[in-house]
Amino acid sequence: MLNKENIYYCGLELNRASEQRKDAHWLDRQWRHNQCRIYLLHENRNLMRWNRDSNEMPVAVSHQRVETEAILPIFESMVFLGLDKDVPLFAADLSARDESDLLNLPGDQDLIDLREAGWLLSNQEAALLAYARGLLYWNKHNRYCSNCGSIAESRQGGHLRLCSSQQCGRMHFPRTDPAVIMLVEDLSDPGTPRCLLGRNSRFPERLVSTLAGFVDPLESLEETVVREVFEEAGVHVDRVSYQASQPWPFPSSIMLGFRARAISTEIKVDGVEIAEAHWFTPDQLKTFGEWGDGGEGYCLPRRDSIARYLIESWMNEVG
Ligand SMILES: [Zn+2]
Repeated sequence: MLNKENIYYCGLELNRASEQRKDAHWLDRQWRHNQCRIYLLHENRNLMRWNRDSNEMPVAVSHQRVETEAILPIFESMVFLGLDKDVPLFAADLSARDESDLLNLPGDQDLIDLREAGWLLSNQEAALLAYARGLLYWNKHNRYCSNCGSIAESRQGGHLRLCSSQQCGRMHFPRTDPAVIMLVEDLSDPGTPRCLLGRNSRFPERLVSTLAGFVDPLESLEETVVREVFEEAGVHVDRVSYQASQPWPFPSSIMLGFRARAISTEIKVDGVEIAEAHWFTPDQLKTFGEWGDGGEGYCLPRRDSIARYLIESWMNEVG
């Protein structure tokens, strides 16, 4: 059973050293620390060790600075993640290099998309790799000042980019895009509670999940929930209540989880963004398979998603 404490990508136990990292000299000392470790990425894929033919779970791979020095000089971007006890952790995007340069480093490793393997890693490793990926992604896509177009230089270990123009000098901070995700329940028949799940047209054929959408400018989170459920499924809701949240750096969101009560039950999907949506009882949900299990019939979203938490916590309460 998923609970709030073990939602994937949450609960990263790392000292981000938010104050110390403002000091360039301190940051330089961390980089030269003899235990310093670095996590390398290539085109949004993280280094992991994973023998898919065995039953072993994947593990995150990091390297000592000295192991990587030969390939680091052309790194596109380097960020400071924080201190794991006293060990400084950095991450670098080496997409400009051939991927074999990373794969040939000491150790046994592959470049793997966290979306594929994240839910098989330990929660701490999944969170750390997701943090590295999200922060590097933001740096890579914010090399120029959005105000004046000048080069924006990395500061504070990649937690700030400063416009290099003296006339402008604007500071840019890592951005997170809020999105809501909601379990809509129909309690009109008290003996048979149901919840609304839909299949986005981009999803695999069998996968149904809670509805979700981005927050529009000048919209409260509750208003986004009401609007999105109506736009995607034609269902009116009220009693929107917050449940939990999950960082989702794919590429740069935070998912804000809600529950809402249906005040109409007729479903009307647009057939474009949402291919299908249905009401399901807890007993029906219990028969659903797992994503990738090769079975037939519907399957639930993966265990590393807050969608799964919203569904399981609802089943636990009503079922
Ligand atoms: Zn500027």
